[in-house]
Amino acid sequence: MCNYQYLTRELSSLTCSITVEEVIHDKDGKCIFHSEDYEFKVANGIIAHFKEFCEKIIKDAYTQSKTPHFSFAEFILVPHDGSLSIFKNLELDGYVDFRNSKINYFTFSNIIFGEYVNFNGSKFGGPIRFADCEFESLALNEIEYDHLYIENCKFRNQFIFNKSKSNGYTDINNSIFEGFTSINDCEFSAELEHTGLNIEKCEFKSLVDILDNHSEQEVRFTKLIFNKQSRISDFKTYNRFSLTNSEIKDNFQINSSYPKEKLFNNVSEILLDEEKIQGVVILENINYFNLSKPSRDLLESLEKKEKVVFGSGVLKYRVSSEMKTILLTDENQELLLELTEVFSRYFSGENHMNFGIQIYERTPTQITFFYFSNDDISREIFEGLINSTEPRFWNLIKNQQQSVTNSTLPDKILKATDTLIDIASIFLKLTSRLPLGKISEAEINKILQSINVNNQPSINARNVINLTVNNINKSNNQSILLGINNHQEIK
Ligand SMILES: [Zn+2]
Repeated sequence: MCNYQYLTRELSSLTCSITVEEVIHDKDGKCIFHSEDYEFKVANGIIAHFKEFCEKIIKDAYTQSKTPHFSFAEFILVPHDGSLSIFKNLELDGYVDFRNSKINYFTFSNIIFGEYVNFNGSKFGGPIRFADCEFESLALNEIEYDHLYIENCKFRNQFIFNKSKSNGYTDINNSIFEGFTSINDCEFSAELEHTGLNIEKCEFKSLVDILDNHSEQEVRFTKLIFNKQSRISDFKTYNRFSLTNSEIKDNFQINSSYPKEKLFNNVSEILLDEEKIQGVVILENINYFNLSKPSRDLLESLEKKEKVVFGSGVLKYRVSSEMKTILLTDENQELLLELTEVFSRYFSGENHMNFGIQIYERTPTQITFFYFSNDDISREIFEGLINSTEPRFWNLIKNQQQSVTNSTLPDKILKATDTLIDIASIFLKLTSRLPLGKISEAEINKILQSINVNNQPSINARNVINLTVNNINKSNNQSILLGINNHQEIK
């Protein structure tokens, strides 16, 4: 008997049962498959031995009545002699256990696996290929590999491919997945100019979960059929991502669960034919402007036809500022929004750019928002513009007479006047709420911070109160505070 003690947790109470009669053993009493004596393995032709061993156990399995168990757990099938197809043209009607094995250059071709095939924890050097095979279920969890190819295969039950890591390609094509498909927590990478993950011409008849994966290189889903609810969530891609030419027969979600880590960090493409979408494609937390122009045009037209839903965190803006959260009561949030609205109009006029505010979340105690524009500038320039426009905005009311009379163009005078009236009205609202205990100076300061991205606004609550009081006093004599009749009484 081989004296190898298994490391795999479920097998740790066992030793390998391969006898000296079945295969040769090394000087430490380990069978050639578990031996770590590489010279011994090479000298005795490890791969030829393995082929012979397989032929024997497969023949034995057919003569036994019970369901056989093909145990290759923790086998070290290296170094390889270069022959690629080891298993081919077979029907293996039993559990195939390759857990925690080390294998180089392996091809399984034209095999019908009647039971579960388990490769969990294995390390593959060179390419591993499954071609023209039929599986009950295949588990590829925590595997490490260079290249993985799955082609013309059929999975009657599950395909579970989790927590794995590649150094090269992962290519799955022309296959049918009848049961649940899970591709989670994998790290796909590839040499430059090659695809990290390519799934092409496959049909998924049941649920598909593609979650929490990561790829340095391109990720491509093309010519696929999704029959049931499916999702691609939290796929961190640093290169092109594409989903094209596929059929979506139920709801399909593409999203990031983290608002601060949006999907699509590079040019991406979602191109689907309208008539091939029977469900709804839901997009959440994506970098919208990283989608190609044809993709955006198509998705927007599909949105009108209710075939695409843009969920939360889809920034349909070319540039946006950092999110800002301000703790304020519901009532005072209204004043903040009034102020940001006036500022937005002023900003657009001053910088000849479109500018808006998007509320991300509102609760009775806080508000989270950001500013956006569809002008093609960087976030740094955008935030710089907000910070440089803010003091000019306050200067209007600090030097209001000058602000209005500085210009000779009637349109400009009117614009400055409108802005002044708006700011004055907000200042009045803020100041009049103070003695009633509806707002505190600290809360006024928070409102003033809303139109600034460096949190050091060039005006504070004290200034606002003083300016408001001064203007009221002046207006009683000079009618400077525009919009307020000098005979009107202000309390
Ligand atoms: Zn052994």
